[in-house]
Amino acid sequence: MITAAEYDDVLQINLCRYPEMMPALTVSAYLVDGLLIDTGPAHTAKELVQFLEDRELDKVVNTHHHEDHIGANKLLQEQRGIEIFAHSLAVEKIGLPAVLYPYQEEVWGYPVPSIVKPLGTRIGTKKYMFEIVHTPGHDRDCICLLERKSGLLFSGDLFLGSKPSACRPMEDCRRIIKDLKLVQSLRPRLIFSALGSVIADPKERLEKVVGNLKNLGRRIHDLHAQGLNPTEIRQRIFGEESPMAPRTQFQFSSENLVKSFLNGDH
Ligand SMILES: [Zn+2]
Repeated sequence: MITAAEYDDVLQINLCRYPEMMPALTVSAYLVDGLLIDTGPAHTAKELVQFLEDRELDKVVNTHHHEDHIGANKLLQEQRGIEIFAHSLAVEKIGLPAVLYPYQEEVWGYPVPSIVKPLGTRIGTKKYMFEIVHTPGHDRDCICLLERKSGLLFSGDLFLGSKPSACRPMEDCRRIIKDLKLVQSLRPRLIFSALGSVIADPKERLEKVVGNLKNLGRRIHDLHAQGLNPTEIRQRIFGEESPMAPRTQFQFSSENLVKSFLNGDH
């Protein structure tokens, strides 16, 4: 299912296979001045292509290689003949068949491999010039796009929630804190997240997220220094494991969040 919302020049396109069941699993793509940022999951690829049929579309950027951001790449290339760009670290991954866990296959589906080109430091549209900001915390090939004059920032899957309680193994919370500080330093006016949130005047939100992550990291390191292992630290801070853990084959878990802060410590 597709819903859309307009924010001046930006069209937010919300994509989800099961919106009535799990609104949290919606992925947002954005169309701004002929540039499509992410193409959503494979399960909604045909719907997205239809939705875009009468709209101007000149090129696509994938914020990273995850299956819920590249699912309509191949179909869009075939039907619209457009070029697609991603960070150089994502190019090979997007060109190869994905390997997914059952929950990912169910919710988002297998993307058809597609040929994408490596991004440079910026990408232009008729009206805008977007700077490519490398933010490798969520995964190593993640980028944000910043339009400096208008203050628009497209943040992909950069963590912007108020309090983290679980994450996946590839997420690196120390790097996420650095990414958030980098974004803070760019002083965006409006942030558009792939999780659907649109954050106006994001200074306060960024400060809060960085503060919460730093506090959590401190607590985890203190308990680790006292000799507790990741499971014990998870029990002490979060109690029971996240309900998301068993549903995601234990990919999205509180224990992974603890481990993410301890990576490199042992
Ligand atoms: Zn992702």
